[in-house]
Amino acid sequence: MIHLIQVVIVFLVTWICYQPGQAAANYFTAMPVKSGDTLISILRQHGFSEHERDQILSTSTHLQKLFLTLDIKYMLHQDRNLTELRVYDSQTAAAFRILKHNGKITTAPYKPNFKITLVRIEGRVHGSVLGSILAKIDSNFVASRFNDAYAFDIRSARNIKSGASYWFTVQKKYDQGAFIKYGEILQTSIEIDGRIIKKNFVHTTNGSVFFNKSSLTEKRPFYAPVNYLKIASNFQPHRMHPITGRRQPHLGIDFELPSGDPVFAPRQGVVIRHGFSNAAGNYIVLAHSNGMETAYNHLSKINKKIRRGYRVYAGDQIAEVGCTGYCTRAHLHFAIKYKGQMINPIKYIKSYPYRMEQQLAARVALN
Ligand SMILES: [Zn+2]
Repeated sequence: MIHLIQVVIVFLVTWICYQPGQAAANYFTAMPVKSGDTLISILRQHGFSEHERDQILSTSTHLQKLFLTLDIKYMLHQDRNLTELRVYDSQTAAAFRILKHNGKITTAPYKPNFKITLVRIEGRVHGSVLGSILAKIDSNFVASRFNDAYAFDIRSARNIKSGASYWFTVQKKYDQGAFIKYGEILQTSIEIDGRIIKKNFVHTTNGSVFFNKSSLTEKRPFYAPVNYLKIASNFQPHRMHPITGRRQPHLGIDFELPSGDPVFAPRQGVVIRHGFSNAAGNYIVLAHSNGMETAYNHLSKINKKIRRGYRVYAGDQIAEVGCTGYCTRAHLHFAIKYKGQMINPIKYIKSYPYRMEQQLAARVALN
């Protein structure tokens, strides 16, 4: 009986949710974001005057910060005296409705009820991993997430032989019947040095990581300082500036995260410096018993307890991600110094934060 009631409820909910979606699908068109597009240029293309554009942006700082990439769509409905746009942030769940009706503008946050499907992509590597994936699926986000999954395994491009096979499954998100954007990659596989390595995207209350059993036995001195590792920029000691041609090394790793996300101590340590500088913004430097120092830059907030000499333990929250100092998008710049030299952090950190370890171990034990 309970079973029957559940079935009826599911049916009713499905039916109720389905109706408006179907109706809306008839009048919305999914529009591609084109190269160079910003929210302003999109509004201009659809007949919003400069005054109206200013009015829209002034309603919300989230709208001002809306991040659009070429692999995302927006929805448009245009009628004689009505224009409605639904815009979606590329990297967060944020979305907005922008409505102009008889010259009157309204904007509101919008919670899309995404229908999610899973697609499987497979192929072989020819040239770079990134390029090989981009040849199959037109999304920088997806290709870079696949790279993130193996950031801790692929030490050099030489580890991937030409013709190495790979596959992955990725979420496709639909709003009112139209494909809007890709979601997470959930399962991945690639041949590294002739061995198939698989990783799954694991989500727990303490974070989400790409993971397999051997991730737990990695002998690395630090836990991840954040609970979602999306690499925006790697350690590149010989990086050249694309325009000036001058050497402009990047001596840390950039983890892209929304402003306000927690930053954790990756191991027991002592605060040796903290404060603000024009380049680093709000920063903290910790010293650890293994002789290494770790640094955290561009923080929006430093935990009130942080002061020189303060002892922290693995997993303690020390700050929040931000975009202070020289910074264009919120991220954590994380660096490790050893014997006076900046070293590549990716080789010394585990793929998950301290607080996820037990949950991951429990999952492995279950299998
Ligand atoms: Zn950086």
